[in-house]
Amino acid sequence: MNAFDQDLTARLDQLRQDGLWRELRRVDSPQGSRIQFEGREYLNFSSNDYLGLANHPALREAAARAVHDFGAGAGASRLICGSLAPFHELEESLAAFKGTSAALTFSTGYATAMGTITALLGTDDIVIVDKLVHACCIDAARLCGAKLRVFRHNDLEDLESILIWATSKATSSQRPRVLIITESVFSMDGDFAPLHALVELKDRYGAWLMLDEAHATGLLGKHRRGLAELEGVADRVEVQMGTLGKAFGASGGYIAGSRALVDLLINRARSFIFSTAPVPAAAAAAHAAIELVQGKEGAERARQLHSIVRQLWQTLGIGADANTASLSAIVPKIIGDEGDAVARATALRERGVFVPAIRYPTVARGSARLRFTATAGHTAADLAQLGAALGNLAPTTTTA
Ligand SMILES: *Cc1c(COP(=O)(O)O)cnc(C)c1O
Repeated sequence: MNAFDQDLTARLDQLRQDGLWRELRRVDSPQGSRIQFEGREYLNFSSNDYLGLANHPALREAAARAVHDFGAGAGASRLICGSLAPFHELEESLAAFKGTSAALTFSTGYATAMGTITALLGTDDIVIVDKLVHACCIDAARLCGAKLRVFRHNDLEDLESILIWATSKATSSQRPRVLIITESVFSMDGDFAPLHALVELKDRYGAWLMLDEAHATGLLGKHRRGLAELEGVADRVEVQMGTLGKAFGASGGYIAGSRALVDLLINRARSFIFSTAPVPAAAAAAHAAIELVQGKEGAERARQLHSIVRQLWQTLGIGADANTASLSAIVPKIIGDEGDAVARATALRERGVFVPAIRYPTVARGSARLRFTATAGHTAADLAQLGAALGNLAPTTTTA
């Protein structure tokens, strides 16, 4: 083995030893409440395809039509070779759905955060993030060069103390831009940001808010626009972010907001400018999903999802006193030890249930968990099957 591979192998051995080894599992079926791998069918509680749209006929047909009309690839960045119609149709539909004047889509949610945060802020500015925001927002906040401050998860007193500090940085000639970044539904805990109070606070201090609605778009609020709609503050959130790969069942990320915001991103967001546009099929599928989510079927699927979430809480023996208007589809069962979490995920897999063991660095060390996600594609029978599989496992020491 050469020195390069020796170095890498030593690092990989350490990961194994720490219970942090990850590997890909080849799946031979579409995503759905049941998936197939290694020649066996598994009940799937791992996917963020919350509304069960990833393999929906309407999305498949829209994608196939886009391939037929626009081909498989986009050719180049949208600023270089022209911007294909499906992207514009998607963005118009998205802006109408979110109730904003404009929207811009990126190849992934990760690229959305990277491009947006680095376009908005520079070295003279301040970025303040919740301790548990997604890795893409952390990475972008580091990369943008602004002073980075982290507030304790959902702790508005801590946030206010940082805002007071930020205010003290203003001079008579210059005031730093201050951007707060949080998530509406936290991806690994499934809890909610105290959004209404947070918006009041940031307005008092003249700060801006970027809200990542990755796990709320398509699910929460009267029109399923997200938590900002549910809490009635959408028009006070400067930067509304989300993904097209979760409830919308396709792939990509988006920013919804003012025309000026979108124009700034087209001009400055490096992950948008210096990257080939997504395949037209992805845009067309996401567009079909947005239309579907707003209709009767979207309402029905959201209702079904909420019913499954309630059943999932019961099955996992987690407190059933949740506010029914704000149930999240993410239900973590906290285990603690990394190796223990992996062992439980393996035991469940042997019983035909697929659920990921989420470990460091996705969550803090010692807070490993099984992360169950409910989808509208699950049925009461699926939950009964999960309950039976869990019944054979040793009881967990802690619960979320
Ligand atoms: C999944 C996720 C992203 C990244 O989106 P992708 O489209 O998967 O790159 C961003 N933020 C949050 C909170 C997420 O859960």
